[in-house]
Amino acid sequence: MNVIIVGAGIMGTTFAVLAKELAPELDITILERMERPGASNSWVFNNAGTGHEANCELNYTPVDEEVISVEKALKIHAQFNVAKQFWAYLIKKGAIKDPKTFLNQTRHCTIVAEPAIEELRLRYREMSAHHFFEHMRFSEDFDEIESWIPYLMEARPRHEKMAATVIETGTDLNFGTLTEQMVAYAVNDLGVRIEYGTQVKRVHRSPSGSWLVETETKGKAVRHKADVLFVGAGGGAFPILKKSHLPFRHRFTGFPVGGRFLQAPISEEQANRYRAKTYGRAKVGAPPMSVPHLDLRVADGQHYLLFGPFASFKPVLEKGRGFLDYLRSMRLHDIPGLLSVAIEHFALVKYLVSETFKGEKSMLAELDSFAPGMSKKFDWKPVEAGQRVQIIKDGDLQMGTEILVSKEKTYGTLLGASPGASVSPEVMLRCLEQMLPSIFRKESAREKMKEIFPEDNLETLINEPDRYREIRDVVNERLGIIRPESE
Ligand SMILES: Cc1cc2nc3c(=O)[nH]c(=O)nc-3n(C[C@H](O)[C@H](O)[C@H](O)COP(=O)(O)OP(=O)(O)OC[C@H]3O[C@@H](n4cnc5c(N)ncnc54)[C@H](O)[C@@H]3O)c2cc1C
Repeated sequence: MNVIIVGAGIMGTTFAVLAKELAPELDITILERMERPGASNSWVFNNAGTGHEANCELNYTPVDEEVISVEKALKIHAQFNVAKQFWAYLIKKGAIKDPKTFLNQTRHCTIVAEPAIEELRLRYREMSAHHFFEHMRFSEDFDEIESWIPYLMEARPRHEKMAATVIETGTDLNFGTLTEQMVAYAVNDLGVRIEYGTQVKRVHRSPSGSWLVETETKGKAVRHKADVLFVGAGGGAFPILKKSHLPFRHRFTGFPVGGRFLQAPISEEQANRYRAKTYGRAKVGAPPMSVPHLDLRVADGQHYLLFGPFASFKPVLEKGRGFLDYLRSMRLHDIPGLLSVAIEHFALVKYLVSETFKGEKSMLAELDSFAPGMSKKFDWKPVEAGQRVQIIKDGDLQMGTEILVSKEKTYGTLLGASPGASVSPEVMLRCLEQMLPSIFRKESAREKMKEIFPEDNLETLINEPDRYREIRDVVNERLGIIRPESE
């Protein structure tokens, strides 16, 4: 069977590696418009690199009149555990390098001031009662919080009442490096082909049922043929879907949200003082993806602090692509849906526009209000982050991700942006199960599944503490994630 994957980001690459591991007989080609893999949203500074497992993100545990909902947090944590199983398998096999090349253990902290302290306490009580978060700690003690996250506390007046939670086994991930390593393995060991500088322009089904993929390759029009097509092209997936003639294409439009961060290089010594990612609360009216956080990042052995994100309204599909590409991806019938989203979510649009025009001075002031004194301590500069394209489905704005598979199961795509790269192996596994169910019927694939994913059932991980702990401890050891003795 001949499979074409559009996009060599973390999603397309994970799809290729997993498919080939389970079914080596598949003939897989990746078509990528850039000259290297993992260079769009998956690149290290185009995202925040948080290994999202709901340790610290308040938007995963919404509170409604003192009732906290933890379902989303449990699902994301379980998905991340499945992702870690996949990466641990690749490391054991020698397919990707030492985990230190892409994974940096950091504390995952949440910090709030009044009037949110009671909410954080409630979150802590609910979450720490579950085996996923059994090592979470809560503190209102200034000195203890300072010992966890000194950069958030050292210049803060002691009378400011704060509360924080910490989980010591969180991660910062360089998804760009991970993607590059997986591509090298896919090409050199699994026989996957990859064609760079190849932009997919449109796709359509031939009368025989196969997909014809029209591309522009280094200025020339080239046509490829595929039995199965997976479009993992990030924001670039929308125009391809729109031109696919699939019946559900009319139901979807993209709503782009850009982002910026403040970035500062720091020394290794400074990094050792602040091995953390600290999340706060989003401002009223701000979208969930704009929760402020101060992160230690590591890229190519160099340490950085990253603060943000600052959202912006930028009508492009991907960073580096022009406004016209977005405009061309729109159809007349999309306009009423977009307008109704703009009216219904007017506060969000207003927020995005105001954020777009925020200058460096205001960005630094925001940093200081989150982490007092930080703006002067390091040499910050604003950097452009990646581009999220949220889904508008049937006129409604969605903040999550959606896997779409055609009725014949020969076309699959991933739309949306959250929780993203962290859960890519679990999301790609579900995609493969829907698109290529026949490969899972083979005894060899079933055996391989057990080897790669000792437990991929999210409900089992959520409901069976001993099973979860057994797997967590094995994969953490393989990934070099160490729980301190004190826990
Ligand atoms: C500001 C920001 C912060 C984020 N923070 C986090 C975080 O902390 N943790 C986390 O887990 N996730 C985070 N994410 C999300 C994460 O970056 C994405 O989920 C992930 O990178 C998506 O991977 P992808 O492979 O789908 O897309 P990409 O990495 O964008 O890859 C898509 C590929 O498709 C190619 N392509 C596009 N169109 C075409 C075409 N027509 N023809 C051929 N090739 C094409 C592109 O060149 C690109 O290489 C963040 C995202 C943003 C924007």
